Parts: sequence; structure tokens; C-alpha cells
Amino acid sequence: MSQKIYKVPEDFAALAHLRNADYQRLYQESVRDPQGFWARMGRRIDWIQPYNKVKDTSFDERDFRIRWFYDGKLNVAANCLDRHLTKRGDKTAIIWEGDDPKLSERITYRELHERVCQCANALKSLGVKKGDRVTIYLPMIPEAAVAMLACARIGAIHSVVFGGFSADSLAGRIADCGSSVIITADEGIRGGKRIALKSNVDIALTAPGTDCVKHVLVVKRTGIRVPMYARDQWFDEVASTQSKDCPPETIDAEDPLFILYTSGSTGRPKGVLHTSGGYLVYASLTHELVFDVREDDVFWCTADVGWVTGHSYVVYGPLANGATTVMFEGVPNYPDAGRFWQSVDKHKVTIFYTAPTAIRALMREGEEPVKHWSRKSIRLLGSVGEPINPEAWEWYHRVVGDSRCPIVDTWWQTETGGILISPLPGAIDQKPGSATLPFFGVKPAIVDNEGQTLEGATEGNLILSDSWPGQMRTVFGDHARFIETYFKTFPGRYFTGDGAKRDEDGYYWITGRVDDVLNVAGHRLGTAEIESALVSHSKVAEAAAVGCPHDIKGTGIYVYVTLIAGEQPTEALRAELRDWVRKEIGPIATPDFIQWAPGLPKTRSGKIMRRILRKIAANEHDQLGDISTLADPAVVESLVRERMNRP
Ligand code: ATP
Ligand code: MG
Repeated sequence: MSQKIYKVPEDFAALAHLRNADYQRLYQESVRDPQGFWARMGRRIDWIQPYNKVKDTSFDERDFRIRWFYDGKLNVAANCLDRHLTKRGDKTAIIWEGDDPKLSERITYRELHERVCQCANALKSLGVKKGDRVTIYLPMIPEAAVAMLACARIGAIHSVVFGGFSADSLAGRIADCGSSVIITADEGIRGGKRIALKSNVDIALTAPGTDCVKHVLVVKRTGIRVPMYARDQWFDEVASTQSKDCPPETIDAEDPLFILYTSGSTGRPKGVLHTSGGYLVYASLTHELVFDVREDDVFWCTADVGWVTGHSYVVYGPLANGATTVMFEGVPNYPDAGRFWQSVDKHKVTIFYTAPTAIRALMREGEEPVKHWSRKSIRLLGSVGEPINPEAWEWYHRVVGDSRCPIVDTWWQTETGGILISPLPGAIDQKPGSATLPFFGVKPAIVDNEGQTLEGATEGNLILSDSWPGQMRTVFGDHARFIETYFKTFPGRYFTGDGAKRDEDGYYWITGRVDDVLNVAGHRLGTAEIESALVSHSKVAEAAAVGCPHDIKGTGIYVYVTLIAGEQPTEALRAELRDWVRKEIGPIATPDFIQWAPGLPKTRSGKIMRRILRKIAANEHDQLGDISTLADPAVVESLVRERMNRP
């Protein structure tokens, strides 16, 4: 754990929504009196019928329920659009930055409202009703947000499937939720490469279980010729003839808003179901306070809308708050490693939120591509998706943020709907690698494997002992799996699946997935610690640590190391890295074997899939499990080949 503390800059705190004393006071209130606290916070959004009942939750299996604001009625799309029209009609809602740096577009709240109404009317004309499922399989283009909001407007449940997924993965997700309509595009473009979306849909629809689909709407993104079958229609042709007026449907707070499948780091993805009222209150409140958003901010979350981060912090949070949100179609290294910063300058981005995987990839390329651009508009940086190694944090702070911008390291999950542990940038001092303190209403605790709550500075399993409004309500179509996955391990509490440390200041440090914890000769070692030690070596870009069978210790430490661009793997370096980890952490953490890895297997959202690396280390290549969410299967093949050359 890094001992360094980065104080909240005084000039930042002076203008921030909340300072330290505010955080302390509000946090205390939020856990002492959740009913009162959330009754007040819930009013930040517009209700068609205001709620009187606020929180009704129990994680006890015999009496299980999660309901928030549950006698209220609202419309999520109206909250993201209609209510801004008088004051912010001409304000930019979405800045779209294309894959090609020459392409961008600005869409005002008024224009977005019209486009959403037309799309909603188009869906209605296809017979889509409240509660029906619509699969959205699009690139990062404005139509993705339009389609999501159109579903919300009529009470249909959207299921966004990342545009990089294969026909197979798409088919599974269509069949699982029984969508009647798919909204897709002819092709997508990312990093200059075309993705055959429509053709993937055509293949997916030959799979068993997909005959629920009655209509496919196709957005023209590249204009390439694609076969159009009886069920297919051009999105524009159907939408542009529709009325620009579509009265928002009245939706119960607990009616579903969307289904979203988790990243699949630990196994078969789960169809996480979120509802309307609590989700929107939570997404908008966390967006405003964690990112300290003000009226004139330009907020850029680089996540794809195929991930929960894209749902809560590209679309719903920012738009509910009337903010300007950036939607980026491309990738960080196209056409070159300066793309993020070039785009930051172009759109005067003030708040920038990305993932450690992107930061580490850019670190590999050195400082020049960053320094080439001014970045002076940025005032706040954020990170999400994995533990951020202190080394990567420091680089992000010093190089990208010119040592003047706070960093919010936000810990949360698809299941949690919004950020649960994070610094508030004007209130909480940061420590590199720590997600710091819980957000309002969030009650984290650390328990041992028997479920005993551990107090003070400690380490163990991270659980949440009470509900928050953005919590998922069920696994779609499989409530038993919901209870089984999250509430059985430690009865009466929500188990996150993550391990954590808590230090003397009460700060939380995510140590990695509990499934990935290494138990070496009786000592428990989190993956994050070993990996961060390796990443702090000047020649290492990225690392992954897993356990492997070991004759004497039971479990040995097997690490995969990616070197920074231009460095050569040698036996001398292998020995040096082994010593390095021993010195940084201690003899117990000394790696037993280091395998050079040109790349690491990651989910499409950029998370290292250690369960696959564990199988490779153990020489069990025939048991890799679900790899449908893998970004680049070739990486696995090359690691397996390399491994098979040794006993
Ligand atoms: P699956 O549940 O299917 O295995 P997944 O857990 O990768 O997939 P997500 O919901 O996208 O799916 O990821 C949530 C997880 O990401 C968290 O449980 C945690 O392990 C990790 N994570 C997210 N943000 C952070 C962060 N700031 N610090 C540490 N870990 C983080
Ligand atoms: Mg998970």
C-alpha cells in the first residue's frame, strides 16, 4: 500500500459541492437515518407521482426484498430530457467524437429530445410495449443513447450488448432475455477497423432461442450494402417519419429500466436487472458529487455504453443532471497514442474518466503523446474497472493531470448501478491505489471467511450490510441465482466477490477478486499487491499474478509480465523482477515463475481474466471455461503455446 497522501487542493475544495466536514456530516446522517436521507435525495429527480415510501429492504433470505421509492411513479427519459428543455434546450447534451478524428457532432437537449421521441414512436409502431425487451447492439454513436432513452420513454427494457461481441455472445444474450426487437447498425468502426454488426445479427438470429425477435432496425453507420430480410428495416426510414412528440409513459419506481450482462471476468455473465427510480436517483447523485459536476463542465467517460459505466456515467447520470456528456466511438491509441488528449483539447473536456487498462497501455507509450497536447481544460480525473496500481495512479496524476487534478478512484460493479466507494474530490484526501471511503448510504464491512465482521485496520472479504437505491434487483429470469450468488456466502449481507484491506484511516483498498486470492504457505496474498509491485518496476508495463500447483508450498506464485515497449525479456531481467517483488513485498511473495506475455487475456471491458491465466499456469488448457467475453483470443493461444514448451 502506498503511504503517500495527496491532499485535496485548496482551490478545488473552495469551489466544490462538498468539503470534508460536509462529507462527514452527510455520511453519518445517511447511515443513521437512511429513510430521511434518501427521502430528501430522491427529490432531485422529477416524479409524476411523488413517493411517500422510501426504503423497504431486507437481505434475509426468508424475507428478502429490495424496494426503493416504491409508491412513486416517474419516467426516466423525461428526467433526462424534458425537464431540461426550458432552461437547457440549447445546451449541448451529447458531444459525439467519431473514430475518425475529423468527425464529431454536437447534439442539444432539444434535438436529443426530438430524436428520442421519434425513436420511441418507431418502437411503438413495431408493437413494442412496456416490459418488452429490446436488444441494442450498436457502436458508440448517438443512436445508442437515443435507443436507450427511447426504451425508457415507453417503459421497454433495454439490453445493450457491446458492439465488439461476437454473433454467439449476442445470440445468448438475445435468447436469455427474449427480445422482440434489435437495434443495430450496418457496421461499426473502431480504431479504423470495421465490425460487421448487421451480419453478426443475421448469424445470431439463426441460433436456437432467438425466434423471439420480430424486427431488426438498422442504423446506417458506414453505408456498406447489407442484406435486408423481411424482419429488417432501416432505422432512419422508420424513425424520421414519426412524430417528434411522444408523451412519456408513467412508470413505477420499481419497474425495470434495463438488463445488462456483467463483464464475465469470473464466469458466465449474469443478466443484471436494474429498476427505474432508485437507479436514477443513485446514478445522478453519484455523478454530481463524485465528479463534482457543475453547469459548464464537459464530462467525458470513455466507457462503451455496452458496460454499466457507459449506462450510468455516459448516459443516465450526466443527462439526468443536464450535463454535457462526451461519447467516443474510437479507442485510446487510434490514430495514435495521443488521441484522448487531442480530443480533450478539441472539446475542452473538464472531467475525464477512464480505466486502469487504458492508463497502463498509454504509460507504455511514454509521456510525449500526452505532453504534446495542452489538457489545460481538465480539472478532475477518474478511474474505474480494476484496482489502479499506485504506479499508474502517480503517472495519471503527474503526466496527465500535471500534478494539479484530483483523481477519483471509483469502486463499483454492474450490480451496484453506481459508484459505492470513492473519494469526493473536494472532501477526501487521496492515497494512490485506494478507493478511499464509502459514498452516502453505503455500508461496507470486511468479514473473514466465517462471516465474522473484522474491525479497525484489517483485510478480508468486502461485503455491504445494507441496501442502496442503485442496487440490482434480480438476475433476469433467475432470482434463485441472484440470491445464491450474492446473499448465500454471508447470509444477510451482500457479498461483492472482492477482497479489501482497510487502513487506520478507514480507507478501503481493493485487493482483487476473492476467487483470485493466492494462499501461499498459509499466507493470503491479493493479486493487486503483487501486480502493483511488478508494475512499479521501470521495465514492466502490466502484470498478472495467479496461483499454481506447487509441490512444497501447495500454491506457488505464477506471474505473467508484459514489458514496456522496446524492452527485451532476458533471464537476467527475470531474476531481477523476482528480487524486486521480494524486496517490495517480502520473501513470501517471491514469484515461483515468470512468464513473458506479449499481451494478457482481458474481458472486452479491459479487465484481466485471471481464471484463464490460472488454467494456463496449471497446464489445463482444455478447461478454460467461458471465454465468450474475451477481447482477443489470439493472446490466449500464444500464452498456451509458450507454456506448453515447458514441463
Ligand atoms: P463477472 O461478475 O461476470 O465476473 P465483472 O465482475 O468483471 O464480471 P463488472 O461488474 O464489470 O463485471 O466489474 C466489477 C468489478 O470490477 C468489481 O467487482 C471489481 O473487482 C472491479 N473494479 C471495478 N472498479 C474498481 C476499482 N476502482 N478498484 C478495484 N476494483 C474495481
Ligand atoms: Mg463481478
